[in-house]
Amino acid sequence: MIDNNASVLLIYTGGTIGMIENRDTGSLEAFDFKHLKMHMPEFALLKFTVDSIQFDPPIDSSDMDMEGWMQIVRIIQDNYSRYDGFVVLHGTDTMAYTASALSFMLENIDKPVILTGSQLPIGKVRTDGKENLITALEIAVDKAPDGRPFVPEVCIFFQNDLMRGNRTTKVNAENFHAFKSFNYPVLAQAGVHIKYEHHLIIHPRIRQMPRFHYMLDPNVVILKLFPGISPDMVKAILNIPNLKGVVLETYGMGNAPNLSWFGKAVKDAVDRGIVIVNVSQCITGTVEMECYHAGKILLDAGVVSGYNSTTEAAVTKLMFLLGHGMTAAQVKEHVKCPLMGEIDVN
Ligand code: ASP
Repeated sequence: MIDNNASVLLIYTGGTIGMIENRDTGSLEAFDFKHLKMHMPEFALLKFTVDSIQFDPPIDSSDMDMEGWMQIVRIIQDNYSRYDGFVVLHGTDTMAYTASALSFMLENIDKPVILTGSQLPIGKVRTDGKENLITALEIAVDKAPDGRPFVPEVCIFFQNDLMRGNRTTKVNAENFHAFKSFNYPVLAQAGVHIKYEHHLIIHPRIRQMPRFHYMLDPNVVILKLFPGISPDMVKAILNIPNLKGVVLETYGMGNAPNLSWFGKAVKDAVDRGIVIVNVSQCITGTVEMECYHAGKILLDAGVVSGYNSTTEAAVTKLMFLLGHGMTAAQVKEHVKCPLMGEIDVN
């Protein structure tokens, strides 16, 4: 149900969606969102209010960072009481990282925060941006008859699918189906109607206010294993000064080479207080380090399971937990529990 008095704040951070072609040079340039209605006359047909605010300058999402995430959180916090929902327009390249980070930074929200973007700029005839944007806006203001929003979560809406933000990964550089949520079903599908899977959606804890977090620790790295990785490479990464957290991308169910130098390097790092989280390079399934000897070595070294987390969720969760000044032991305990539906613990 969409109320005529509803309002959404549209936050344009940058990315392809808000671009038009410079007729002289042929290159894509960001347009001023104050002129959105000029580029999208469909806006005039919406029955609710859309206000917009934009990053100055808008950025390619390759330039998104912790400061950018904090800027989005700040905009949402400052405007929280004034709007029914928020739509964040974002480049697709790092959207899954931003959606994951925001899911932790916006704790216990009771309003939708929907990220979307497009593969083709809004200024192009075949754009996928208009549909993504209009549907994201509708979802941001859509409510149950009792007035509660259907999706009070941080989500990505892209090409018909509404997905929990911290379950997403960009999977296609070209196709309009750019995102997938491999280990969790979609929260809604938009066709002729928007069909919500209500039982899959997280609702805020009652009698608790939303909390907006700004503390993130940058001393986190992703280490992806590959056959032939050398001791020097692994040691160089695990000895980065001030390193506090590692997302270790392993094989299959969480397996790593059975080499003494490798096990020793990992154990040394854990003993120095570095939290190492095991996520699989496979896109579906979960880490089970007890299954093979090749996983057990990691378990014995003190590596903690990331279960079926995406890398994007694991790395931003580590930044978030470490940013709150927790000890390594506390971080490990929290890594094992879902904070915002980002993992299934088996
Ligand atoms: N490079 C662009 C970005 O991520 C691509 C896009 O918007 O889809 O900002």
